[in-house]
Amino acid sequence: MEAGDRASLTRVLLDCGLNLTDSERRLARLGLAPRDIDGMLVTHEHGDHAHGVFDFAAAHDIVVYLTYGTMLAMKAEGRVTEGVRMVFLNGRQSEALGGMQVIPFTVPHDAREPVQFVLSDGERKLGVLTDIGAPTAHVAQMLSGLDALVLECNYDRDMLWSGSYPKWLKQRIAGPFGHLDNEDSARLLGALDRSKLKHVIGAHLSQQNNRPEIVRAMLARTLNCEESWIGLATQDEGFGWREA
Ligand SMILES: [Zn+2]
Ligand SMILES: [Zn+2]
Repeated sequence: MEAGDRASLTRVLLDCGLNLTDSERRLARLGLAPRDIDGMLVTHEHGDHAHGVFDFAAAHDIVVYLTYGTMLAMKAEGRVTEGVRMVFLNGRQSEALGGMQVIPFTVPHDAREPVQFVLSDGERKLGVLTDIGAPTAHVAQMLSGLDALVLECNYDRDMLWSGSYPKWLKQRIAGPFGHLDNEDSARLLGALDRSKLKHVIGAHLSQQNNRPEIVRAMLARTLNCEESWIGLATQDEGFGWREA
């Protein structure tokens, strides 16, 4: 996300599951270089979010913002690079990062101390929610009144249960500390204050257990809008810039 006027833009990288080369390539695709990044936020230690964080931060001297629990979990796996500056977040306190307010909030997920984020430039708010087993009242409150929302739509229930994943993995994904299925996501979206909401991006879609057209149709039905209005992040392409 970018916050501020052109001269004093603040940009953050939220999670980094890819290796250094791929991360740099993805940034370049958005017209950015690593030096444009003012801070890296980490939601939790799972590889698809954290694998490349410290390599990128060390290579480009960027501060990493994460919870103490996430740092400990990454350290236990030898994934914390010495010398990288860190700021420890908690789920009750917001943090100023340049012109941006970083507002972490806690979520139920099978990681050590996971958080998700609302980011604000003082006027507009972007919420990001992935990797959550079940919506809570706290999460719904944090995501109400946003201008833009990136929302996990991880799996279609029928596709998961009839698919080829082992039983233990299906149970983990569908469990209270796993991921949101399309219907849970749509129900959460339907319960939010959406009076200012201008952008919705479905994200963290399973390649095995979901299909973009199912997500797009479900979210459009919830919002009573055209399917073309719903954005989707794909694993290969991500999603492009949105104008406020
Ligand atoms: Zn994930
Ligand atoms: Zn996760």
